[in-house]
Amino acid sequence: MKKIKIIGGGLAGSEAAYQLLKRGCEVVMYEMRPNVMTPAHTTARLAELVCSNSFKSVAEDTPQGALKLELKELDSLILKTAQKHAVPAGGALAVDRNAFAEEIEKTLLAFDKFTLIRQEHAEINDFTIIASGPLTSRKLSDRIKEKLGMEYLYFYDAAAPIVTYESIDLGNAFWGGRYGKGGDDYLNCPMDKEQYCRFVENLVNAERVILKEFENKEVFSACMPIEVMAERGMDSLRFGPFRPVGLKDPKTSQKPYAALQLRKEDGYDRLYNLVGCQTNLKFAEQKRVFSLIPALKNAEFARYGVMHRNTFINSPKTLNADFSLRTHETVFFAGQISGVEGYMESCMSGLMAAINIYRKSKGQRSITPDEYTMCGSLMRYISGAVKDFQPMHVSFALLPPLEENIKDKKQRKTAYTQRAVKHMKEFITKIER
Ligand SMILES: Cc1cc2nc3c(=O)[nH]c(=O)nc-3n(C[C@H](O)[C@H](O)[C@H](O)COP(=O)(O)OP(=O)(O)OC[C@H]3O[C@@H](n4cnc5c(N)ncnc54)[C@H](O)[C@@H]3O)c2cc1C
Repeated sequence: MKKIKIIGGGLAGSEAAYQLLKRGCEVVMYEMRPNVMTPAHTTARLAELVCSNSFKSVAEDTPQGALKLELKELDSLILKTAQKHAVPAGGALAVDRNAFAEEIEKTLLAFDKFTLIRQEHAEINDFTIIASGPLTSRKLSDRIKEKLGMEYLYFYDAAAPIVTYESIDLGNAFWGGRYGKGGDDYLNCPMDKEQYCRFVENLVNAERVILKEFENKEVFSACMPIEVMAERGMDSLRFGPFRPVGLKDPKTSQKPYAALQLRKEDGYDRLYNLVGCQTNLKFAEQKRVFSLIPALKNAEFARYGVMHRNTFINSPKTLNADFSLRTHETVFFAGQISGVEGYMESCMSGLMAAINIYRKSKGQRSITPDEYTMCGSLMRYISGAVKDFQPMHVSFALLPPLEENIKDKKQRKTAYTQRAVKHMKEFITKIER
C-alpha cells in the first residue's frame, strides 16, 4: 500500500490521518507549527481550534446536527473526541479546546505507522492530501498557484449572504433582469423611500465584526463592505447595488425607489445570493438588518456574509466531488482550502479525502455519498457549476427536495436529517471501515 502524505495537521489533516491509519495506511504528516506559526494559531498542537470552541448545533432539525449524525456513522475522530471533551453549551457541541487538541494528537501519535514532521512543506506529489487551511503558508500557496494556475487560488473571502428560496416573501418581490434582460435569473426586492432610508440607517449603525489585525488591510483593500459603501451618503446604495434602473415593479407599474437583486445560487434553485451585499456585520445583525427589506422579512440565511482572510481554491473549476484534483487525481485538497467552510465541514472533507485516496492507493475507483446526504450534497456543491464561487457550509437547501410536502418547519427539517442519515448508512455498507 502507498505511503500517504498530508500537509497540515489542523482539523481536516488530523481527521484524514486517523481514517487512513485505522485502515492500515502509512501516513507522513507535515505540520509547520511551532517552527512557522500562522497569524491565528497560538499553540503547536494538532487540531488547534483557531477561534470559537463551538462545533455548533447538535439538534436533529439543523444542518449541523444532521452532519454530526452522519459523521458519527463514519466514525469521525474529531467528532468523537469533541463529544468526549464537551463543555456545557446549550444545544451546541462546545469543547475544552486544550483537552480536545491534546487527545487528538495523542491518538494519532499512538499509531506505529504515523510520522509527524514539524516542518513547513511545499512539495506536491502523488498521494498527497493538502489540508493547510485558511492560513496556508506563502511557499505552499505559490506551489498551489503553479499547479492550478494563478486564477484558481484566492486569499480572502468577501461573500454576500445567501437566503433560502422558501423563506422569501414572493408577494413583495418580482422576477426579471434590468431592461427586461436575463429572464428569471434575478428576483428583485423593491423598497419605497421610507423602507430604503430605514434600511440604510440600520445598516450603517449595525454592529460589525472586528477583524484581526492581519486581515484588515488585505480584505478591505480588495472589496468594500456594503455598510461602508452606505456610510458615504443616503443615496450611495441607490446608485450602487440597490439601483432601480431598468426595473419595473409589476405591482405599481413603476420603477421602485430602490431594489436589491437576488441571484440563483444552486442547481435546485433553492438558494439566492444577495447581489453586492458582501458584509462584515455580525451574523445576528445581518439577520436583523436585511430582514427590513420587505421581501426578506422572514428570510432564512443559508449562509451569512463574511469578510476574512481565507485561502481557498476555486473548487468548482478544479476539484472532483471526491476532493481530488481533476488534472491530477492522486492529489487531494481537504479542509477550508478545498472550499468548504467551518470546523465540522473541514473535518468531513478530510474524512472523505482519506477514504478516496485510500481507495485510489489500492487501485480502486473513488466513491462519494449521494446528494441526499449532508456530506454528499456539500461535496457536489463545491465541485459543481457555481458562478462566482464562495466557500460553503452544509445546508438543507443543498439537498434534493423531500418527496412529501411537510408543512411544519421543524418536522420538515427533521425529515431531511432522517433521509440523509439513512442514505449515509447505505453508503457506509459500500466502504471498507
Ligand atoms: C481567524 C480565523 C477564525 C476562524 N474561526 C472559526 C470559527 O470560529 N468556527 C469555524 O467553524 N471556523 C472558523 N474558521 C475557519 C477555520 O479555520 C476552519 O473551520 C478550520 O480550522 C479549518 O480546518 P483546516 O484543517 O482546513 O485548517 P487548520 O485547522 O487551520 O489547519 C491547517 C494546518 O496547516 C498548517 N500549515 C499551513 N501551511 C503549511 C505548510 N506549508 N506546511 C505544513 N503545515 C502547514 C497550519 O499550521 C495548520 O495547523 C476561522 C478561520 C480563521 C482564519
